[in-house]
Amino acid sequence: MFTHFGLTGPTILSLSHTVGKLLRKKNPQITIEINLKPALTAEVLDKRLQKDFDLYSKKQLANGMKDLLPINLIPIVINLAELDPSKPINQITKEERMRLCHVLQHMTLTVKELRPVAEAIVTAGGISLKEFSPKTMESKLVKGLYGAGEVLDIDAFTGGYNLQAAFSTGYVAAMHAVHGDEE
Ligand SMILES: Cc1cc2nc3c(=O)[nH]c(=O)nc-3n(C[C@H](O)[C@H](O)[C@H](O)COP(=O)(O)OP(=O)(O)OC[C@H]3O[C@@H](n4cnc5c(N)ncnc54)[C@H](O)[C@@H]3O)c2cc1C
Repeated sequence: MFTHFGLTGPTILSLSHTVGKLLRKKNPQITIEINLKPALTAEVLDKRLQKDFDLYSKKQLANGMKDLLPINLIPIVINLAELDPSKPINQITKEERMRLCHVLQHMTLTVKELRPVAEAIVTAGGISLKEFSPKTMESKLVKGLYGAGEVLDIDAFTGGYNLQAAFSTGYVAAMHAVHGDEE
């Protein structure tokens, strides 16, 4: 999902775990490559572009790609392909068309940073799981201290796994905090 601040959506949220780790390295160079037309092979995409260019041959490039892309993406794709949006379509060379095809299937963006923690869905980091007994969720270091959910160093892909981890560890911790080891 493209937004005013950059990329988001389930795939990006899941990727952010790995990207966050990479960003902490010295001079990270992280790029994301997006295939905007994953259902088409390069050959089929080129044929599709040729068809649109035949149809809109007298229009300017920026006005001849409306069937292929959402309107806001058109100038970005043209810019990344280093083409002139006002160029008449019947003057676009094969090499320029191939450049467009390449950008459509290999759109490459540079990652600068993650969104602030206040916008996080789930946070990586927290107290090490090794310090807690999985059977009781009691701390192995401090008797009577129980941990569950976000305070633990556990995070998963979006899709319910984080809630499940919070519910399960919360249930186990609460049962043992109240009842101790009695079954
Ligand atoms: C927008 C959003 C969408 C999400 N969507 C999903 C999803 O689709 N699937 C999924 O699996 N997970 C999702 N999550 C993550 C999931 O909600 C959390 O992993 C889960 O709620 C963590 O539960 P928790 O009980 O550990 O922490 P929390 O739900 O954060 O509960 C902590 C509670 O402690 C209270 N508290 C804090 N400090 C104190 C204090 N000093 N004294 C008393 N109370 C205090 C807080 O007010 C809060 O009620 C989402 C999270 C967000 C923010």
